Amino acid sequence: MATKRDYYEVLNVSRNASEEEIKKAYRKLALQHHPDRNSGNKAAEEKFKELSEAYEVLNDPQKRQIYDQYGHAGLKSSFGPGGFDFSRDFTHGADLHDIFGDLFGGAGGMFEEFFGRTGSRRGAADGSRAARGADLRFDLEIDFEAAVFGGEHEIILPVSETCPTCNGTGSEPGRHKETCRHCNGHGVVVTSSGFFHVQQDCPSCGGRGEIITHPCRACRGTGLVKNRRQLTLKIPPGVETGSRLRLAGRGEGGVRGGPAGDLYVMLHVRPHSLFQRQGNDLFCEVPVPLDVALLGGEIQVPTIEGWASLKLAPGTENGKLFRLHAKGAPGLGNEGPGDLHVRVAVEVPKHLSGAQKRGLKEFMDTCTADQYPERNQFKKHAEEFLEHRK
Ligand SMILES: [Zn+2]
Ligand SMILES: [Zn+2]
Repeated sequence: MATKRDYYEVLNVSRNASEEEIKKAYRKLALQHHPDRNSGNKAAEEKFKELSEAYEVLNDPQKRQIYDQYGHAGLKSSFGPGGFDFSRDFTHGADLHDIFGDLFGGAGGMFEEFFGRTGSRRGAADGSRAARGADLRFDLEIDFEAAVFGGEHEIILPVSETCPTCNGTGSEPGRHKETCRHCNGHGVVVTSSGFFHVQQDCPSCGGRGEIITHPCRACRGTGLVKNRRQLTLKIPPGVETGSRLRLAGRGEGGVRGGPAGDLYVMLHVRPHSLFQRQGNDLFCEVPVPLDVALLGGEIQVPTIEGWASLKLAPGTENGKLFRLHAKGAPGLGNEGPGDLHVRVAVEVPKHLSGAQKRGLKEFMDTCTADQYPERNQFKKHAEEFLEHRK
């Protein structure tokens, strides 16, 4: 495998670039290398994947920090053993249509146009002049529970859809359009100057190849109407911040018979009160009563599969770490689940009564020095250190 390029280099930004600068750089390059604009160009496709990967990391403050500190190696665990996988867009097969239902309801979300209008005129050559709809990006915040257990999320997507009145032609139904005389219906004109032939959109018809004599009233001739589409997103278990659902054909509608664009839903998982997540591993701090730490016993730990019990040996120290194999977040696709890391947090009882204090004092008085090996060791080292003091 080729060595990975530095993400900052890929986006052509400095290491201290602001979020805004990163976003801007990405948009500019993504537009340039988007597969829809470079049909069949393998190099552009690779470049686009590289860009998307770099952006996904640098646009996420947490991932960016890990990358800054540990480089590509630091991100291996969060992207699975093979590193970043562009195909994790759930584009495969039947899932795609399952992701959307047709339920109604409301929830917000930040919305923006992702790549702008990526439609390319498939040219004068085939004479179709169809334009594919723009790809759209929708940012969705979900709860931790939905990320690990999966769930449904209702969103309202403001989207331009193919005008149903004129079927995206932009022309009043029943009215014929006239072939543009300026470009003979090709949509493009070629001007020559010396050795150069410059092909550009026909200025007369705007590249349509046709003149609309009677614009459709529903869409004012644009072929698109604004709509608020209500969708239910099915979120597969195991997603995390940065996961992206790609919904083919759910972006902006196409015009003049062009296909609709795709919708990309970028997921952002809200922090949780019990669990932190790193890749598919979960971390949880469990309060343990003083007597259980002293005498040993069982504690109950919440996991994705329900309560799990954990045996503590007598004399368990505060901060001790346990690793519960495969009890972390479920992996996506073929990834197995991560581990659950449990950290013991010994909780000392508060608001002791007089009788409790006396009882404790009585117990402490019975303890001998050799019951505190660490304290003895500490004292010894401290004294050795201080002997050097002049
Ligand atoms: Zn229309
Ligand atoms: Zn024309």
